[in-house]
Amino acid sequence: MTNLSEIKTFSKPLVANLNKLGIHTIQALLLHLPLRYIDETHMTSVRDLRVGEPSQVEGEIVHAEVTYKPRKALIARLEDASGQLTLRFLHFYPSQIAALKVGNKLRVYGEVRSGFFGYEMVHPTCKAVGEKTTVAETLTPVYPTVAGLTQGNLRKAIAIALNLSNISPPLSRGRARVGVESRVSQNSYPHPNLPPETGKELDTSKQNPLAETLPMAVYQPFKFPSFSASLKALHNPSPDADLHGLEEKTTPEWQRLAFDELLAQQLSMRKHYARRRSVDAPQFKQSKRLVSALLKSLPFALTQAQQKVAIEIQSDLTQPHPMQRLLQGDVGSGKTIVACMAALQSIESGWQVALMAPTEILAEQHFRKMIGWLTPLNIKMAWLTGSQSKKDREAAMQIIADGSAQLVIGTHALFQEAVQFKKLGLAIIDEQHRFGVHQRLALRQKGQPEPHQLMMTATPIPRTLSMSYYADLDVSVIDELPPGRTPIVTKLVSDVRRDEILRRVREACAQGNQAYWVCPLIEESEALQLVTANDTYALMQYEFPELKIGLVHGRMKPAEKQAVMAAFSAGETQLLVATTVIEVGVDVPNASLMVIEHAERMGLSQLHQLRGRVGRGAAKSACILLYQNKLSETARARLKVIYESSDGFAIAQADLNLRGPGEYLGTRQSGVPMLKIADLNRDVDLLNAAKNMADRLIKEHPSAVEKHLERWMGRADELVKV
Ligand code: ADP
Ligand code: MG
Repeated sequence: MTNLSEIKTFSKPLVANLNKLGIHTIQALLLHLPLRYIDETHMTSVRDLRVGEPSQVEGEIVHAEVTYKPRKALIARLEDASGQLTLRFLHFYPSQIAALKVGNKLRVYGEVRSGFFGYEMVHPTCKAVGEKTTVAETLTPVYPTVAGLTQGNLRKAIAIALNLSNISPPLSRGRARVGVESRVSQNSYPHPNLPPETGKELDTSKQNPLAETLPMAVYQPFKFPSFSASLKALHNPSPDADLHGLEEKTTPEWQRLAFDELLAQQLSMRKHYARRRSVDAPQFKQSKRLVSALLKSLPFALTQAQQKVAIEIQSDLTQPHPMQRLLQGDVGSGKTIVACMAALQSIESGWQVALMAPTEILAEQHFRKMIGWLTPLNIKMAWLTGSQSKKDREAAMQIIADGSAQLVIGTHALFQEAVQFKKLGLAIIDEQHRFGVHQRLALRQKGQPEPHQLMMTATPIPRTLSMSYYADLDVSVIDELPPGRTPIVTKLVSDVRRDEILRRVREACAQGNQAYWVCPLIEESEALQLVTANDTYALMQYEFPELKIGLVHGRMKPAEKQAVMAAFSAGETQLLVATTVIEVGVDVPNASLMVIEHAERMGLSQLHQLRGRVGRGAAKSACILLYQNKLSETARARLKVIYESSDGFAIAQADLNLRGPGEYLGTRQSGVPMLKIADLNRDVDLLNAAKNMADRLIKEHPSAVEKHLERWMGRADELVKV
């Protein structure tokens, strides 16, 4: 890995700016790939412009002025032999006013819009035309950059790096598009024969940044171009390159790099997985006594799906290596009882269990439920949160440390350093996506040997995500709801019909049911969110003088929050005005109506979680999604998914397609390699192929794998330790 500062022609400020972009090596600079491309390889006459198309026009400025109404703007008109084009700048510098003086010859590049005076470009890039101005020979790449580093300098730096790496001419110009039809599906993916490792691969220190890392046979089923040819083509595409394919990342060159990236992710995750198999964990016996006693005491029988996942977990826990299993199940599918069974297996084998929830409300709910189930079995429990008194906490920490607390329930407070377990055998984490990798790690380190981990989530993780970002975990799915649930009716209602909705709330409460009113999500400002919640609360008190109304929001002290929730849970309040803090896990079976304001601002999975707060009892339940008028097409399409589907997985998949993976990964992002090139929707075939390839590569080509990880992850070793 050659350090950038070793390149003599790079100035110190250039290196500093590249460092700001996270680029420290030639390798990383070469993999700093364009965001998009602009086509400056030819000119378009004004007459031939088309709305929506980025174009380059050359002409003379015939008019320029700064206007102040309706707002300050610099407006100029550029004329060529065929007509005139308006240039509009909403913010600008004195240097730009000078550049746009009447009589100046300019070449402008931008997207064509239809304006009041015909064609216009807003904020085009402008270049003065001199005698020697030539037309670009390749499409011009546009890179992600930082202030102080111009596109021009970045391009030059990359060109130098490409030259230093002594690139050979591309093997094939590979103009064939890799269309879906030419791809091979998961099942028919031909396993290429990999040549054996020769031992020459071992020296990774002097790796040519453009050399192949893995045997070329890996790419053979896709007929991908070489790594160096791909980089060259992406940094300097020829004028006849497929601009659309380049932007969509569907050209063979992009696809080749996407595959490399997916391979790196798989390799890193699979290594992580393998590491786990080499670590010791407490080995539990099957429960003989406690689990069957619990099941006998329940008023219901487990569903098939619950039984299936319970067996998967039980058998993991009898292994001498730490379990890391993700238990997925839609809201209300009954994950808690499954977790409780795992806890009892651990306790019966003499090991302590920690159950961690992301909020105090949820932790307390678990605590109450567990007391009901476990006190008859003489299990000793402890309770640990940030808000309890010092005295209570010290008492709890005492019985955790001396081992007499068999099950400990709490919030983040559980993994603070001062909390010492005598013998932690199993850590259960509810709503795992709310926690970061580091928090989970901290809990894992509270046991010696490493405790087992059971992570639960009601946010279903789409298949492509669990195959990629979650490939280091084992996954169990509860894909069935307990019988006897009445389906929730979901309605999409415009805000102008608010009165009708208020009437429904009044009726529901008059019939002895309860309702939630969820305030709009205000992402930009928590303070504003609070104002909205308070306003809504006041408004509801005004509308419904006859009702007892509660208010819960994120800024409240935990004890206040708990009091409000307890009152709602006990039926003392009938209407609960809430922010999205009630999204996770709150269980009040008597609540049968939920109104969500500004539903269009929320993520689909979030809406699905919110909706899952009703429909938990016998009464027929409804969820009303209020939207502001003038819903955009995409917003309408999104909300349609929610009112047409009650299947959490389908909703999650749609959400992933519409909004990308950020929301699912939550804090998991930290320490987990994020994909920059590959797209899990577009590149699902590549993902399947990478998955099929990873284990074999690790076994048969370990040093090639190291090289590949070093190239793509930089910090591969650190990541594998996570
Ligand atoms: P979640 O998966 O959302 O955490 P819970 O574990 O809170 O769901 O279960 C929701 C409700 O369903 C609880 O009141 C629980 O006691 C009940 N429940 C769980 N399993 C069953 C079952 N097999 N039959 C009937 N009710 C069940
Ligand atoms: Mg739950």
